[in-house]
Amino acid sequence: MTSLLFTWIFLALLALNVGLKYWLATRQIHYVLRRADAVPEQFAGQVSLDSHRKAAAYTVAKQRLAMIETACGAAVLLVLTLCGGLQALCDLLGGWLGTGMAFQLAVAASVVVIVSLVDLPIEWYRQFRIEQEFGFNRMTPALFLADTAKSIVLSAAIGLPLLALILTLMRFTGPYWWVYAWVVWCAFTLLFTVLFPILIAPLFNRFTPLADSELLQRIQALLARAGFHTSGVYTMDGSRRSSHGNAYFTGLGAAKRIVFFDTLLERLQPPEIEAVLAHELGHFRLRHVRKRLLLGFVASGLLLIALSWLMQRTWFYQGLGVEPLLQARNDGLALVLFFLVIPVFTFLFAPLSSLLSRRQEFQADEFAARYASSRALIDALVKLYKDNATTLTPDPIHSTFYNSHPPASIRIERLLKLGPPAAAA
Ligand SMILES: [Zn+2]
Repeated sequence: MTSLLFTWIFLALLALNVGLKYWLATRQIHYVLRRADAVPEQFAGQVSLDSHRKAAAYTVAKQRLAMIETACGAAVLLVLTLCGGLQALCDLLGGWLGTGMAFQLAVAASVVVIVSLVDLPIEWYRQFRIEQEFGFNRMTPALFLADTAKSIVLSAAIGLPLLALILTLMRFTGPYWWVYAWVVWCAFTLLFTVLFPILIAPLFNRFTPLADSELLQRIQALLARAGFHTSGVYTMDGSRRSSHGNAYFTGLGAAKRIVFFDTLLERLQPPEIEAVLAHELGHFRLRHVRKRLLLGFVASGLLLIALSWLMQRTWFYQGLGVEPLLQARNDGLALVLFFLVIPVFTFLFAPLSSLLSRRQEFQADEFAARYASSRALIDALVKLYKDNATTLTPDPIHSTFYNSHPPASIRIERLLKLGPPAAAA
């Protein structure tokens, strides 16, 4: 492999990525707009034409922003790599810090800061223009800035020591450094999953034990039926930031928590809440959460092996516009380059992960139909689709590529086939 050949492979894949993303976004926009003036028959009576049109406009607005995001992402990537941005950054930081650990940490941190700075106005636009316009935003600019500041401090406090540890392993553990780095990464992921709900989530939201005793009884009966143990059922003040509703599980093992957004509890009836919870329980009981975690471990292992091989090839650096140091370690530089360009190589696998995720959604729906009620889940889904302005008519190819959840019509069709609920309502 020569540097020039690698440059061309990278450019070709980047062009393919951007082209594919634009083609998919354009398809989605046209498909949704063409169906905006008639509510699909399946939802007639449940979703008004106004809500349907709002969902179409919201989908289009989000797609257009995604297209801008794609263009900015590609531009930043090119500026940093082939246009010499990263090389200039290395020259500048190397002049101040030499080539040791401080230099490598500084290079990585600077790139994260640059990428985040480009992302910030896009996030601002998303929250204060699109979400605002469609009535979903509940954030004040002050809260947005406070969230951003907290995230930066947290990322630095957690990310920099972790990065320093990985760089130390790369430096001192020989050719099999990636095994040690992989073990550290897996341990960190597990620790983070367990500690996130206890230490980090409360920095952003308030969690209160569910107070509604009638609903709580219903939930406890469901948990008993499904043989599920949890360390608590909580309500989260999601309404501080957005009126989108949600419910989720966090934690692992005995520390699992059930969390309902207050916005979800406001809108759904108790049997519907029970059905949504049963779906989430399904993900745990059917070991989806564990499988996803394991798959993440396998993927990170493969990526680290790829990195350990690539970082020893000169063409990997030169092909991406950077001169590797001959007299010093290039670990930090290799890490940064690798994580900058890897999405270009992995994007083509997106449909595979979406496929896996959609299959698990169907299985969780079946679980919910068995332990709660398929009718109640359908009612809950229709309300959630309507309230969240999720399109009922997504482009099938766009959906195959991106959607972790099956389109509403297919999901509901399947639920209807599952028939009447087995458990008492
Ligand atoms: Zn699900």
